[in-house]
Amino acid sequence: MSARILVVEDEPGIALALEDDLTMEGYRVSVAGDGVTASRMAREGEFDLIVLDVMLPGKDGFEVCREVRRAGVKTPILMLTARAQEAEKVMALELGADDYVTKPFGVRELRARVMALLRRGAGAAPSKTLLIGEAEVNFERAEVRRGGVTMPLTPLEFKLLELFARNRGRILTRDQLVEGGWGVNAFVSERVVDNHIGNLRKKIEPDAEAPRYLLNIRGLGYRFDE
Ligand code: CA
Repeated sequence: MSARILVVEDEPGIALALEDDLTMEGYRVSVAGDGVTASRMAREGEFDLIVLDVMLPGKDGFEVCREVRRAGVKTPILMLTARAQEAEKVMALELGADDYVTKPFGVRELRARVMALLRRGAGAAPSKTLLIGEAEVNFERAEVRRGGVTMPLTPLEFKLLELFARNRGRILTRDQLVEGGWGVNAFVSERVVDNHIGNLRKKIEPDAEAPRYLLNIRGLGYRFDE
């Protein structure tokens, strides 16, 4: 039985793209284009997951989320929030959403979140986490929590961090990092690799300028030490 997903989005282009992509992935998809319809469908229908945009006519996504949770519906909710608005993410989680994706999002990121939430809903194994100092990396959700803040990992950061975690204490050359992160035949300059390591440090290190865990080994590459 394939999972049933309710997509709530009023922008026809995005709604259609989501519907197409998730249908192609084998899910059964229903679409609601406004908050009032969405709230009703979410409370009446039997969905395994709700993808819920914040900006909606009728009622916004927050209001829909609140109503659905008040009605005792426990269906996982994945909110679509605006990139620049940190407050939206916090609010989404406070109102009972399970996760969020910021717009504009990539299809792969969305798919990964959908899969992770459906797995969780199905009572799958507990999430795989990695503690790095005060940062907690959750590989199933592709995110890092540090100091009460949750930061999503990009697919690339996710791959690099996984590679480091599997090779802790060992030096990885930039070539090895390119191969693991971008692919065997990718041509990526050292500078680009360094930039992404820099971004990763900002998420996991207490001080990205004085890294303690993701260390640069001069002339050789990088080493991850816990
Ligand atoms: Ca919208």
